[in-house]
Amino acid sequence: MALESNIRHRVPPKFLVNIDRERCILCKRCTINCSYGALSFNGERIVADNYECVMCQRCALMCPQSAITVRVNDVQYAPHYNYNDRIRRIIFEQSGTGGVLLASTGNDLAYHHVFDDLLMDACQVTNPAIDPLREPVETKVFVGKKLSQLEFETDLRDVVLALEYPPNIEIQTPIIVGHMSIGSISYNACLSILKAAKRIGTLAGTGEGGLHKDFFQYKDNVISEVASGRFGVDNRYLKEVAALEIKIGQGAKPGHGGHLPGEKVSKMISETRMIPQGSDALSPYPHHDIYSIEDLAQLIAALKETTDYQVPVGVKIAAVHNVAPISSGIARADADFITIDGFRGGTGAAPRIIRDHAGIPIELAIAAVDQRLREEGIRQNITLFAGGSIRYSADLVKIIALGADAAQVCTPVLIAMGCTVCQSCHRGLCTWGIATQRADLVHRLDVDVSAKRITNLFKAWNEELREILGALGIDSVESLKGNRDRLRYVGSNPKIAEILGVKHAGD
Ligand code: SF4
Ligand code: SF4
Repeated sequence: MALESNIRHRVPPKFLVNIDRERCILCKRCTINCSYGALSFNGERIVADNYECVMCQRCALMCPQSAITVRVNDVQYAPHYNYNDRIRRIIFEQSGTGGVLLASTGNDLAYHHVFDDLLMDACQVTNPAIDPLREPVETKVFVGKKLSQLEFETDLRDVVLALEYPPNIEIQTPIIVGHMSIGSISYNACLSILKAAKRIGTLAGTGEGGLHKDFFQYKDNVISEVASGRFGVDNRYLKEVAALEIKIGQGAKPGHGGHLPGEKVSKMISETRMIPQGSDALSPYPHHDIYSIEDLAQLIAALKETTDYQVPVGVKIAAVHNVAPISSGIARADADFITIDGFRGGTGAAPRIIRDHAGIPIELAIAAVDQRLREEGIRQNITLFAGGSIRYSADLVKIIALGADAAQVCTPVLIAMGCTVCQSCHRGLCTWGIATQRADLVHRLDVDVSAKRITNLFKAWNEELREILGALGIDSVESLKGNRDRLRYVGSNPKIAEILGVKHAGD
């Protein structure tokens, strides 16, 4: 959507595109590569419309002459601490459109990362480190409910488990790909993710967009999401999966339903989601059949019955202030896993005001939930996934030490595929072919290259995880789970350290 003319007259452009005329050979490659309409050829030279630029950097990287530079515009309003540039832009834009502003990817405001106030411990002398090159260090995780006690039957030849073990999925690393729906991202992006998940031996979420018929071959690696809109939910979608997940909330927009702008609802998306082509796909804020934990328990039971009790059924919620008691209720409602999504989590489209100002950090949410479930003696009943700004392997280790079984990641997966985090997914014009349905753009994303890059990323994180576990003197992810003693707090807020259950450095 082109910027309203009233904005152009009041707001300086955010980015400046500079074309070096000496270098430019007028090949026009940049005009083809820019899907936002920021570059054109006027018959004599390439001209830039700075207002349309989102700083995705595709043009600069594709220019064979390196003739293009894109930078942040230094010319802004007169400085004002309260009415800063960001807030004045928001007001101008809303006074032009009269509408809710959309945003995508995760919250980009400079809230403090609790992760950055946590340091890992390391072993030496009396409690020696483990060398992962020479000794086994286990990164496998089992997703699903665990038995609280074991009972065996014996005869003269064998010892067998007398209890039926609940369905569990073995994943080779405590990292799964979070829910990104087909529609919010492209067919090629979804296929890349599923190929990578299969290769890695992990799971990937469908988001609330259904599962394209071509992707059922990856069913052993798929968590199908059942969201309030029930988009794409049919018998096959529920049965041919590794796990099912009821989506109640999402970190980027707690209390909100999903939103796929109509521009992204192509024929293929409309068929997969079972909705009309070109219309906005807005799922209701609540599930209209869930108004209590008892209602949620009924849906969990129904999904378990549908799948003959063969796959774990989980629930995804946003990290908000009452996340611990809600999680306790979910565990008691017979869910096999819970996903908690923190306030910096990504999105394909969300109201900017919600994305930027609602929810709580995942670090605090996971620590509170793990603590509560342990106090109630039901922690083993549930696998806990943490999502919402797990940026790299250090965050992964810290969130597991705070109580998660495994992490869900999305934005790092997009970046591995080439996303430059320009925050324009909701416009459906992603120049890299990731968050778009436009055929000419989708084809820009090479599936094999992207799948390989995601696989490499997970492999690298897993290796770093093994290195860290070794340094911590721990030989398995299971032993790191909730092991807060392996962390130390170096921030300045004792209340945060108390909620995390982490000692201060030097303590
Ligand atoms: S939107 Fe991207 S491709 Fe277009 S001018 Fe800006 S940086 Fe270049
Ligand atoms: S997926 Fe594409 S549109 Fe979305 S942030 Fe990344 S580069 Fe921008």
